Amino acid sequence: MTNSQKKNTDLLIVGGGIFGASIAYYFKRDNPDKEVVVYERNEMCSGNTSLAAALLSRVRTNQASIPLAVETFRVIKELEEITNDRLPVHYTGAIHLAVKPEKVIQVEEMMKVASENNIEWESITDSHANKMVPWLNASKAEKIFYVPGEAYTDAYLLGKAFVNAAKALGVIFKRNTEVTDLIKSNQNVIGISTKSGIHEAEKTILAAGVWSTYLAYKIGLGLPMAPIRSQYWITEPSETLFLPASPTVIIPDASFYARPQGNSLLFGIREINQMYCDLRILPEKITEYKFSTDNGWQDLIESFKKIVPFFNQFGNTGIKDYIAGFSAYTPDNMLIAGECRDIRGLIIAGGCVGSGISVAGGIGLGIAHLAAGKANPFDFSQFRVDRFGTYDPYKRENILRCAEARSKKTCG
Ligand SMILES: Cc1cc2nc3c(=O)[nH]c(=O)nc-3n(C[C@H](O)[C@H](O)[C@H](O)COP(=O)(O)OP(=O)(O)OC[C@H]3O[C@@H](n4cnc5c(N)ncnc54)[C@H](O)[C@@H]3O)c2cc1C
Repeated sequence: MTNSQKKNTDLLIVGGGIFGASIAYYFKRDNPDKEVVVYERNEMCSGNTSLAAALLSRVRTNQASIPLAVETFRVIKELEEITNDRLPVHYTGAIHLAVKPEKVIQVEEMMKVASENNIEWESITDSHANKMVPWLNASKAEKIFYVPGEAYTDAYLLGKAFVNAAKALGVIFKRNTEVTDLIKSNQNVIGISTKSGIHEAEKTILAAGVWSTYLAYKIGLGLPMAPIRSQYWITEPSETLFLPASPTVIIPDASFYARPQGNSLLFGIREINQMYCDLRILPEKITEYKFSTDNGWQDLIESFKKIVPFFNQFGNTGIKDYIAGFSAYTPDNMLIAGECRDIRGLIIAGGCVGSGISVAGGIGLGIAHLAAGKANPFDFSQFRVDRFGTYDPYKRENILRCAEARSKKTCG
């Protein structure tokens, strides 16, 4: 590692998923004279970004993430203009419904916060909900809220739109190039190393998704997150039950969410038994990980009784596809975003808690501001890297805390 490649890079980003691409875009947009280089060991956005169900939700239980998602909605038009390409964003709205008193309180609180953020919503009846979503039986719901502006998209294409916009502005993308180490000298990260040498930079962003923990740990930084499986299924089509223009549906009582996929239904659950992975055996390509021998069938069976009261035809509906990947969950379901207290020159963008597509805009803008030494337009105080103190991400107990956090997640 003696041949030094370049020393005047201003911003170096490890990871070309939606977080890395979004940070690169905003930083270059606002600092056109600075050099930005992104390292990706596979193809751009081929990690967990390519697998996401891609619900774009601004109304979330985690209030600090709402402005970040609002920024994602705003930037979509900007990306379309720069890339001269239309993104498939479907503004079908979302229905949140609740039966049990604690879930009613939760969704009511979410709508209160939505109003504070100027996000429109309305109460609707179960027959109105059923008209918009023929498969849905909401007759037992105490509260049904419709948020008309919510959307879903294709996560890979949104990620690639950030990449293409960043490229158009002059960001350099190094594909198929693995970062083997972060280089730390006297509590400063001064760049990275690859198999072909060292690359120094003023600031380094670690945005390598679930793999970030591995690189951080090598320089003595324990990131409070773990790879926890997210999985979803796609049903056989039905022109009567599944309408392409139906809203997405979020049912905390059943730990269930769904959105249209043409005339099929894409749906996911928060399983009772979470699957997690030891980082040391996580493959470099997520598609090489064997998530389930039964395509999550056992998890579906366990959730069956909870889902059927809301989706009466569930048992008669065929499944045609199964997708699984890892999201980086944290013990408190909050993102990890910001500078490190004891290590200068390094900024972390991770701990996506299964919402990285929705919040990508805000993460990109906020981290780009921090990297440029400007005031962050968002409040990242709840996302602090060191909020759990000294943390061992390999400790089983800590991994289980992250898995449990996923079970408790109730928004889309
Ligand atoms: C099944 C599933 C459903 C989901 N549904 C939703 C949803 O509906 N809505 C939502 O908002 N979010 C959803 N998510 C979450 C979303 O996919 C993630 O939050 C988001 O993709 C995280 O982006 P990222 O850039 O942090 O990670 P990734 O996309 O995983 O990118 C990290 C990149 O870093 C690269 N990398 C790793 N190590 C190195 C290295 N050493 N050197 C160079 N490159 C490296 C990887 O190859 C990878 O491309 C879902 C996730 C899954 C798995």
